[in-house]
Amino acid sequence: MKQALRGALLTFAADPYHTEFAESVVYSKDALVVMEEGRFTAVGPATEGLAALAADVPVRELPADHLMLPGFIDAHVHYPQMEIIAAHGKQLIDWLNNYTFIAEQGFADKAHADRVAQLFLQEQLRHGVTSSCVFCTVFPESVDALFEAAQPLGMRLMAGKVCMDRNAPAGLLDTAQRAYDESAELIARWHGRERFEYVLTPRFAPTSSEAQLELVGALAAEHPDLLIQSHISENLREVAWVKQLFPWAKSYAEVYAKYGLLRPRAIYGHGIHLDEAELDLFHETGASLAHCPTSNFFLGSGYLNVRYAKEPRRPVPVGLATDLGAGTSFSMLQTMNEAYKAAHLNGSDLPAQHAFYLATRGSAEALGVADKIGSVAPGYEADLTVMNLRSTPLIDFRMDFAKDLDEQLFIQMIMGDERAIAATYVAGRCVKEWA
Ligand SMILES: [Zn+2]
Repeated sequence: MKQALRGALLTFAADPYHTEFAESVVYSKDALVVMEEGRFTAVGPATEGLAALAADVPVRELPADHLMLPGFIDAHVHYPQMEIIAAHGKQLIDWLNNYTFIAEQGFADKAHADRVAQLFLQEQLRHGVTSSCVFCTVFPESVDALFEAAQPLGMRLMAGKVCMDRNAPAGLLDTAQRAYDESAELIARWHGRERFEYVLTPRFAPTSSEAQLELVGALAAEHPDLLIQSHISENLREVAWVKQLFPWAKSYAEVYAKYGLLRPRAIYGHGIHLDEAELDLFHETGASLAHCPTSNFFLGSGYLNVRYAKEPRRPVPVGLATDLGAGTSFSMLQTMNEAYKAAHLNGSDLPAQHAFYLATRGSAEALGVADKIGSVAPGYEADLTVMNLRSTPLIDFRMDFAKDLDEQLFIQMIMGDERAIAATYVAGRCVKEWA
């Protein structure tokens, strides 16, 4: 069904870190966004759009102080960790052993996986997240559960089975060969079906033997366009551990590079402690990073310097991510809030336009899907979030004193949460009804 939305629109045509705002930020106070068969078919000034639109096409007008945005894209998140959000007191390696590796064993039970997968996707939609790149568990059934739950919702979803064959409880380990075989089966079952992409998912170097990394690398070579996701350089103890486990490697990044796991569409969570040579390697190979500030602060890991990672002389693409359940919120607004603080601690800054870019087109670029999602423009898949810019009494009051769009957006990313999400559209269908 053809339909249209009329109101204020913010989207991005390019990366504002590297391009002037005038060319990268697209803002219109009164836009018409036309959707049909899951795509945006026309986007432009409302007066022109309405003149060209047939009279029988329904047009929904946004209430005052509402704003259309591309649907948020969470570039790195673990759905099985939903049950351990806010688990107290541990840094990365202890947190994995004490909480994560226990919770993930429950996903051998398909019924449990089904229940969590459904709750997870509903939570994302309530928060205006329309697409994400998701870690499942070592059990292939946990991947089936997530894709099956996404089917009726029509979401563009990227996900994979975690590969891990050492340094975790026996119940959570596969083998090098099983990782290869089960991943290959899941590719055949899910990749390219509906709006789904399968993602090769070695958890991180310490939980994969070299034999496993080699076989995952071989599978990656057989599928050169496939996404790869993992973790790198999140925590200093982890970095030291990798040095011990892979004594031949000059750096953490080199471990992944050796097995062909750094390349375009390979996205690594964190990257906080990467050195210049490693960032160079990311740049040369085309690999990208997912910035997960709520998680990094929660686990006391540190804080990625996004501006430094994106240095124009060797830019590394960066997406924004919750990394839930070490991350503390599904909200990309709250994630921007923490990203702002991370920028400050790095002696840098995060203007609102940069933050909203990272949560939409930035994540899409880091995942290699920026030709499909992350922007509101003709031909793109019609994933869209409508924000209410006066969602709480305090925000409502504060907005009275906002001088311009910059301030209005900044107020949202510091104080906003899911209450600011008025509606969510996936492939042109309203999946979170208007509040
Ligand atoms: Zn993670």
